[in-house]
Amino acid sequence: MRPARALVDLDALRHNYRLAKALHGDRALAVVKANAYGHGALRCARVLEGEADGFAVAAIEEAIALRDGGITAPILLLEGVFEAAELAEVDARNLWMVVHHAEQLRMLDGYTPKKPFNVWLKLNTGMNRAGFAPGQARELHDRLLAGGKVGRVTLMTHFARADEPDADATEQQFARFQAGAAGIPAEHSICNSAAILGWPAVRGNWARPGIMLYGADPMPLDGGQLKPVMTLESRVIAVREIAAGEPLGYGARFVAERPTRVGLVAMGYADGYPRVVPSGTPVSIDGRPSRIIGRVSMDMLTVDLSALDEAGFDSRVEFWGAEVPINAVAGAAGTIAYELLCNVKRVRFEYRGS
Ligand SMILES: *Cc1c(COP(=O)(O)O)cnc(C)c1O
Repeated sequence: MRPARALVDLDALRHNYRLAKALHGDRALAVVKANAYGHGALRCARVLEGEADGFAVAAIEEAIALRDGGITAPILLLEGVFEAAELAEVDARNLWMVVHHAEQLRMLDGYTPKKPFNVWLKLNTGMNRAGFAPGQARELHDRLLAGGKVGRVTLMTHFARADEPDADATEQQFARFQAGAAGIPAEHSICNSAAILGWPAVRGNWARPGIMLYGADPMPLDGGQLKPVMTLESRVIAVREIAAGEPLGYGARFVAERPTRVGLVAMGYADGYPRVVPSGTPVSIDGRPSRIIGRVSMDMLTVDLSALDEAGFDSRVEFWGAEVPINAVAGAAGTIAYELLCNVKRVRFEYRGS
């Protein structure tokens, strides 16, 4: 059996959820969109159900998969419905939905639910991606409730730069939200992971932690109290020595400066490990630091065993997890931990804890 696998630590997930909720206070929807950032949405939701105040997903297909899997907790559709036909499903499946643009209001006008909808009215406070102007909040809130089709409205917004400790954009967005929400008798949902971790003065009733649940810190910090949930690992499947001056792998991207012991590892970009990383990107081999050398290929990549005498055939190679911070790999790849996690595929997923 190919040794590439993703170990998912469900106890760490629960720890991170508790931390998110404790740091924010009040309630927290666990964001499990995109298959729980690549970790397996149903497995993750089952572990958190009973504890999480609810879940958030990107689209109704994701919500239906959770309901079909037995999840009964509230589920919020972060982008609401994409077409009017979905409203019947929102109604029948007892889902909560964001309303962020006028077309969605029109869809609501044309549908009468069996029980009133729970709507999260999204305000655009500066990200300029989705949402209504904060100045419209009062009118839209009242209009939604007036028709009897909506039983509860929660006001929400989303930050563009909460992961930047110094950006005053976050404070500006928060101020615009508060101005728009002032005097409206509704609950608030404002904080993503970065705001929970980095902006203690910014709080609402409902937090929406995503990436921090999976143990990756979106702030340029060291991870603090978060526990990594996924360990991506494989094994050395062959070893060879190459002489000084010899090239290694596609494009001869690495040329040995001295005699080099090369470990061939069953992991590649078809597993979601980023092809773009340069030689020198950290890995951990039998618990000791080493590096990628040469180009990552589809099914295999090569690591430097020269300084690791005991390492060889069958040595365990960690690509990210407790020993290799995923943010270090993301930095080497010019991306963020979110993308690396979402990209993991083909490898065997094994779950620990409960
Ligand atoms: C994805 C998402 C979140 C979670 O963001 P993280 O940075 O992963 O914590 C929160 N709110 C909205 C609207 C989202 O789309």
